Amino acid sequence: MKYPLLIIDLKKIKENTKNVIKMCKERDIEVAAVTKVFAGNLKVVKSIVECGVDILADSRIQNLTKFKDIKIKKMLIRIPMMSEIEKVVKYSNISLVSEIETIIEINKYAKKSGKIYKIILMIDVGDLREGIYFENQEKIYSVVQKIIKLKNIELNGIGANFSCFGGVIPTEKKLKMLVDIKENLEKKFKIKIKTISGGSSGTLSLFNKINIPEEINQLRCGASIALGIGLNDKPFKNLYQNTCTLLVEIVEIKNKAKKYAICAIGEQEVKHEYLIPIDKNIKIVDENQDYLILDITDSRKFYKIGDAIDFYVTYGGLLSLMTSIFVEKTYISHC
Ligand SMILES: *Cc1c(COP(=O)(O)O)cnc(C)c1O
Repeated sequence: MKYPLLIIDLKKIKENTKNVIKMCKERDIEVAAVTKVFAGNLKVVKSIVECGVDILADSRIQNLTKFKDIKIKKMLIRIPMMSEIEKVVKYSNISLVSEIETIIEINKYAKKSGKIYKIILMIDVGDLREGIYFENQEKIYSVVQKIIKLKNIELNGIGANFSCFGGVIPTEKKLKMLVDIKENLEKKFKIKIKTISGGSSGTLSLFNKINIPEEINQLRCGASIALGIGLNDKPFKNLYQNTCTLLVEIVEIKNKAKKYAICAIGEQEVKHEYLIPIDKNIKIVDENQDYLILDITDSRKFYKIGDAIDFYVTYGGLLSLMTSIFVEKTYISHC
């Protein structure tokens, strides 16, 4: 066995995907499965797609490029860079966007390749992430005015981000604001806007808590599928949280005032805040670039050099472990 080892349970991830789809379909909401934490891994991504999601969404065009042979609509969820538009048009069908310069560039490449490229115009509803600020109606109108003149662009929808770093929680009021913006745009420009992309797994968490306007017809779900969590990392009762397990190897044991195990994983692979020891009697003490130091004094297990200690991982942890070339990955299809 090679360590550090990340074990990914595809069966549990598939169960999560099916249940997320079920929750969304009950409300006629389309599921864009966000796979950014899986670093373009085809095994995992194919398992998710097989469950019947509507769209495959990722934040890196390099990942979407790897998915080119998977027959499904693909969405880039990071606002594209001007320098990557040619690839964006080639390897995806839909993009979240916010800047007219970028949209014009997309139109240029779409025209070259004879495509109609779909965009979802992002509205910043207060979390100060991507999008045109919701109160700046003039700006929203002027951008849409320009978009509708572009022959190879379809304004497929408007969308918003919630509950990311800015910490804006989706509320009925905020979602209704998106609906109003969409309806105003449709009236003003005599157009039809098909999609309102109403956030992420955080919105899914609120399905039975707040009134989600029925015009919200798309969610971009990542954490709920990968780790069964939603708003503020809260677990969903009907989803698995233990989809991924990390095993790290003990390279030294110290008996001082307490008993410490030094393990061969460090900040280069994953920050210790992202790790959750499965043995509840183990405490994480410290970490540097190369080592993770654990207090194993209270553990009932007898650990020796060469043993592996297992951890659950957070979303951030999964992202960095999947991305690290120093972490072995293995996939299981049965519990
Ligand atoms: C990561 C991301 C998502 C998915 O969020 P989860 O909380 O993982 O469901 C949705 N939209 C955008 C723009 C993202 O960057």
